[in-house]
Amino acid sequence: MTILAETRARLARIEGLTLLENEPLAQHTRFGLGGPVPIFAEADDEESFVPAVAVLSPSALPWTIIGEGSNLVVSDRGYDGIVLRFRGAALLVDGARVSVQAGASLQSLVDFTLELGLEGLDKMTGIPGCVGAAVYGNAGAFGQSTSDTLERVSFLDRGQVREFSNAECEFRYRDSIFKRRKDWLLLGAEFRLKPGDAAALKSASDEILATRNRKFPPDMRCAGSVFKNLLLKELSASVQAQVPETVVKKGKVPAAWFLEQVGARGLRHGGIHVADYHANLIYNAGDATAAELREVLDDLKARVCDRFGLRLEEEVQFLGFEVPAVR
Ligand SMILES: Cc1cc2nc3c(=O)[nH]c(=O)nc-3n(C[C@H](O)[C@H](O)[C@H](O)COP(=O)(O)OP(=O)(O)OC[C@H]3O[C@@H](n4cnc5c(N)ncnc54)[C@H](O)[C@@H]3O)c2cc1C
Repeated sequence: MTILAETRARLARIEGLTLLENEPLAQHTRFGLGGPVPIFAEADDEESFVPAVAVLSPSALPWTIIGEGSNLVVSDRGYDGIVLRFRGAALLVDGARVSVQAGASLQSLVDFTLELGLEGLDKMTGIPGCVGAAVYGNAGAFGQSTSDTLERVSFLDRGQVREFSNAECEFRYRDSIFKRRKDWLLLGAEFRLKPGDAAALKSASDEILATRNRKFPPDMRCAGSVFKNLLLKELSASVQAQVPETVVKKGKVPAAWFLEQVGARGLRHGGIHVADYHANLIYNAGDATAAELREVLDDLKARVCDRFGLRLEEEVQFLGFEVPAVR
């Protein structure tokens, strides 16, 4: 029996775990790109997730976890291993503290807190994806980030459930310790919010959602902004001198500004288009491949590097690519 067949047999014995074979990952990414994975395992609760991780952790097979695939680029060849998804989505409230399982959609968490009139996650309405990935990448928008109100998280480390405080998560802009420890799998998070005016929060949040839906139409196959914005203070003096003051927002220079200077807006390569209204919004217009997307990203990085001597860093995560992003 091959390791894959043996692992499959062990996973199949776990009650509540759904196994899909040769599953096209394009169906699990918002870009709609990516080849198949031999085994796609979905756990609806911790009772099936924890034993599945116990099977996979010591295995020699490559395996990984994904959420809703809204920040993921999967190669055209797919992923030669096992993809796991945790869908546990329970939400609990105790005063102004809200606990949520990592598989819940961030939107369901935001909506839950809005209904309770709690402030702190309200501006993150419309960010696609699950809570686990929001912690992993410290997702945020409109001046609010996951790390602002997160109090603790629970995660699996080699089969053991551990907890971290906010400080231990080492949050930075679109970053946390979980990006460096991909073997640690988030199980849940607890947020400490503030009581607010439910009607005012809801109406401000609805406005944000409307703005976002204009920028990112719900059927657009993309990952939001592909490249991370840059911290002004981390740029060289000569680059800082070239950035107009009006462009800087809360100490950050949008990656879109650099991309605009190198002619990214409206660029097309095969089925991959760069939006003509936003240079950091790159989407699959219909029949794109992941290879074309990778080529566009590498081309844009090279152009920015040649012009400004700086390296743009992708916010999107890659799966199934042998050669990491260049330059
Ligand atoms: C239209 C659009 C708009 C967007 N706008 C924003 C925005 O305003 N702000 C922002 O921050 N992001 C934004 N994004 C990016 C995306 O929404 C976030 O990165 C989101 O957190 C990804 O969630 P996901 O469940 O889809 O994760 P996936 O794309 O499936 O995975 C992302 C990463 O999370 C890891 N991960 C998932 N679950 C777990 C877990 N339980 N434990 C450990 N690691 C895990 C995966 O391994 C992977 O590396 C946008 C995306 C789109 C498509």
